[in-house]
Amino acid sequence: MDYFPIFCQLNNKPCLLVGGGEVAERKARLLMEAGAVISVVAPTFTPQFMQWQNEQRLQCFTAEFSVADLADKWLVIAATDNEQVNQLVYQQATEQRIFCNVVDSPKQASFIMPSVIDRSPIMVAISSGGKAPVLARILREKMEQWLPNSLGALAQLAGKLREQVKQRFATMGARRYFWERFFADKALQAEIDAGRDNGIQQRISTLLAENNQPQGSVVLVGAGPGDAGLMTIKGLQQCQQADVVVYDRLVSDEVMHLVRRDAERIYVGKRAGFHCVPQEEINQILINHAKAGKRVVRLKGGDPFIFGRGSEELEALIEHQIPFSVVPGITAASGCTTYAGIPLTHRDYAQSVRFITGHGKGLNDAQWQCIAQDNQTLVFYMGLSKADYIQQMLLNQHMRATMPVAIVEKGTLATQKVVVGQLQQLTEMASSMKSPALIIVGEVVSLNQKLQWFGTTLAN
Ligand code: SAH
Repeated sequence: MDYFPIFCQLNNKPCLLVGGGEVAERKARLLMEAGAVISVVAPTFTPQFMQWQNEQRLQCFTAEFSVADLADKWLVIAATDNEQVNQLVYQQATEQRIFCNVVDSPKQASFIMPSVIDRSPIMVAISSGGKAPVLARILREKMEQWLPNSLGALAQLAGKLREQVKQRFATMGARRYFWERFFADKALQAEIDAGRDNGIQQRISTLLAENNQPQGSVVLVGAGPGDAGLMTIKGLQQCQQADVVVYDRLVSDEVMHLVRRDAERIYVGKRAGFHCVPQEEINQILINHAKAGKRVVRLKGGDPFIFGRGSEELEALIEHQIPFSVVPGITAASGCTTYAGIPLTHRDYAQSVRFITGHGKGLNDAQWQCIAQDNQTLVFYMGLSKADYIQQMLLNQHMRATMPVAIVEKGTLATQKVVVGQLQQLTEMASSMKSPALIIVGEVVSLNQKLQWFGTTLAN
């Protein structure tokens, strides 16, 4: 984060504006809207400034900037067309630890001003950190269209109701549940749009009277293999409504950035040198939070029902009669192969796909015999540390030694690594790869040469 975003309370606070031209006018307008006590210093002023002075909205001082002008100021904006003066203002302000903005020169300023969408009291500020102002403007225009004009009125109304809602609902959870219903209420929205005060009051009374006891629940959500764009819209919505998110190692940081900021985050994955939280304990965490009336999201890498123990967790919830639902995710086999340019099936090469765990209960010879058949694609999850065993078992069942194989590490992420080779090289290939990694065996792997579109592939 290059700049820390804050909203300042400038009401009745002395601020200094250096410059009396048109650019300075724009800044003066903003400071006036924020209720600042504005002193403007410049050798000359536009007529607009003189008018504002007459209206006592600011005070103009006809002079060159001097250090004394900074006395008692909270904030300074240098908006002259003279770079040296702007720099001097910035240096002097910085010496005195006063935040200073220099117009058109974000690098030499201690704060920058964002693009703003004003639906007071809702304010949306957008900044590109001075790197792409046009992009910030385009985003602002998009959001302007997207945010209804009545948003301000709705927020204003919420502000007036806060105390009443606090009295009515004792717990934080119940209050939040009320506000979610309040802001999503179409009928209330319609009354506000039409400016019907009676209708608004009636609707509010109804909402306040309704039973507001949030019932705890658990949603098992598949986060996909890593790229946050691969989570489903439904999964995202759940993450943004959650009170508690219980997640493990395979859930990427990118995905965790999408979780509601206020949600409690509970990590239950393996930490370096430590074991995973035992399954029993995870089940208990889910049950305890749901019983406390929380909306719990159990976020799992890939798809929760594919080598994810999702079903075991649900069984524990059923035992305790906790309502649950499941949002599927893109499993690693699908995400990683697609991002490596490997189609899982192909009319000519593979008529079926097998997802196989490299861990867990071993497979017997008869099963390995089926697995080693032609015309299919094999995807081994959790197989990296067993690559030598997998290689040996497939060769034992007469799969040809030159069968194309790939290993995809951290698939779909910017750090994705793909290595392609032959079955006889699998063990050696695996030695240079790290977890999480997926092993893919089958003719389809060779299509990667043509179809690769993301990142790079190393040939073994
Ligand atoms: N439920 C998950 C799988 C959990 S098992 C899913 O549907 O994808 C964990 C294994 O998944 C890892 O050992 C690895 O083999 C594979 N895996 C998950 N994410 C991966 C990724 N981004 N890149 C490569 N392999 C991944």
